[in-house]
Amino acid sequence: SLSIGIVGLPNVGKSTLFNALTKSGNALAANYPFATIEPNVGIVGVPDARLGKLAEIFASARILPAKVEFVDIAGLVKGASEGQGRGNQFLANIRETDAICQVIRVFDDPDVTHVDGEISPKRDIETINTELILADLQTIEKALPRLAKESKFNKDRKVVLEAAEAGSKALDGGTTLYASGLDLTDLRELHLLTAKPFLYVFNLDADELIDEALRARLSELVAPAEAVFLDAKIESELVELPDDEALELLQSVGQEESGLTQLARVGFETLGLQTYLTAGPKESRAWTIRKGATAPEAAGVIHTDFQRGFIKAEVVSFADLVDAGSIAAARSAGKARIEGKDYVMRDGDVVEFRFNV
Ligand code: GDP
Repeated sequence: SLSIGIVGLPNVGKSTLFNALTKSGNALAANYPFATIEPNVGIVGVPDARLGKLAEIFASARILPAKVEFVDIAGLVKGASEGQGRGNQFLANIRETDAICQVIRVFDDPDVTHVDGEISPKRDIETINTELILADLQTIEKALPRLAKESKFNKDRKVVLEAAEAGSKALDGGTTLYASGLDLTDLRELHLLTAKPFLYVFNLDADELIDEALRARLSELVAPAEAVFLDAKIESELVELPDDEALELLQSVGQEESGLTQLARVGFETLGLQTYLTAGPKESRAWTIRKGATAPEAAGVIHTDFQRGFIKAEVVSFADLVDAGSIAAARSAGKARIEGKDYVMRDGDVVEFRFNV
């Protein structure tokens, strides 16, 4: 499944945040049969109010939200692209993720040293981006001679060569590929780091969480990428508390929702995903698909046999189902559609698949 790599300089609160992610993931994983969780993976459920409503309509025994996987990518330091620290391992791990989440320190604490002496979110973002940009430049430099050779007699390869040259130019100018506006399709085979979408987590002091002016300034540093604001220390306390006490703690620092929950939602959007829903007495559940997935592809997320043996899907939109009040009422109101293998799924479709086994 798709995952987001967490990176950041030392002492910015990555481990603190990641421990909270893991704790929350373990609680969630208990609901997913056969889920195996790697030690460097944390999982968060994507909050979805529709699931509660479906569980009411179908009297479901449990609710299973969509989830987002975060991978702890330890070891980013200045010079990682030159093999400093655990540079090469770091780069290999981050290459496998689908998006990159940078944790940036804003909190001030004289007991926690900053690797570069003082707190500066802007400089830290630049330091990290520079490492990722340098790594991509190296990857492209290495590929160029081969691409030049291949493109002598092959038009398709020439397109890749030209894309690599354009990418190299953008990187040289200090821009990440994702922000460069270049069409990145032809660069896919090079697995470049800065071609992935980025999102940012600002780790603030509790009293800074309600500082709107500060948040606006930080958002601006990373726009158009998304920013999440949280206090990693509070997040690590929240996952230890029962729901009612967690809510109390959140409210005491002026928040309605935990940072992890916000991170899950923003991460999901950054990955370009959407959900469809299934419901019954056993469970109401959100399934993750990419935007544009067809009905058989969506069925394949449940089980590959469902995709192979796909016959048709009965689809009701969430809104129509809620209006009708039950699946039977939706059917008799003509709101349940039978869709075939070319149907492109829409967010919030409530689906039942028919298939041959
Ligand atoms: P990492 O090196 O980025 O993984 O950072 P850690 O999560 O190990 O945090 C480094 C130190 O900063 C630890 O002593 C944490 O307790 C502390 N820390 C982490 N997040 C916060 C925070 O939001 N506020 C404060 N005051 N300290 C924090």
